[in-house]
Amino acid sequence: MTRDYHSNELDQPGLAAQLREIVSGLRHYLEEEEKLGLEGWFLSSAATRPKRGGEEMTGTKIYPGDLQAIKAELGDCRRCKLHANRTQIVFGVGNPQAKLMFVGEAPGRDEDLRGEPFVGLAGQLLTRIIQAIQLSREEVYIANIIKCRPPENRNPEPDEIAACEPFLIKQLQAIRPKLICALGNFAAQALLKTEEKISSLRGKFQEYQGIPLMPTYHPAFLLRNPNRKREVWEDMKQIKREYEKL
Ligand code: URA
Repeated sequence: MTRDYHSNELDQPGLAAQLREIVSGLRHYLEEEEKLGLEGWFLSSAATRPKRGGEEMTGTKIYPGDLQAIKAELGDCRRCKLHANRTQIVFGVGNPQAKLMFVGEAPGRDEDLRGEPFVGLAGQLLTRIIQAIQLSREEVYIANIIKCRPPENRNPEPDEIAACEPFLIKQLQAIRPKLICALGNFAAQALLKTEEKISSLRGKFQEYQGIPLMPTYHPAFLLRNPNRKREVWEDMKQIKREYEKL
């Protein structure tokens, strides 16, 4: 028996409306996944959107000198054991007057070689996350809790965090962001002075020295657990909402 799909089924009361709702929900879901660069989907408008140009930056006071002074003070840092195996110090990158600052954990191999934070696979995902909220890497500032690569990407140790943290604090004081996004357990716990896990911290604005701080999952964690991207997208939407009020 052949079935006529074009008549009876869609005539049933409510069915067409239900189908429309499903399709619309699916479209919304796919759009959000696309924004976070889920495998198989790619960015369209956000990735090709023109970057905020210098003209928008002109007229604002920029004090790169502050960051330069911090860099100079850091010098050829040997304050902790990580100096022995690093290629170079990974200081931070972005707009010295950024309203939004991202803080990660520590440089990995790619960052150690390039001297720039978040340039490897996790970094590329972070770039897409930033673009998904209609910002660019050039508009925000990106740094890490520690500035030298731990051997084999092991976790940073407490003495290393203690030696490096004063320089991150000085960067925060120089940039004075209006919003902070802490990426992963180490960044969130170090800045918030807590042992609470990122899974319970994320999703709600916390406070760092009076600055709203959103903890969220680290992009490297997302690469291993892509099903957690949805939560990061929820966190990023909250950041975007606050950013738009600034
Ligand atoms: N992971 C981090 O936490 N920071 C980087 O710069 C790169 C990977």
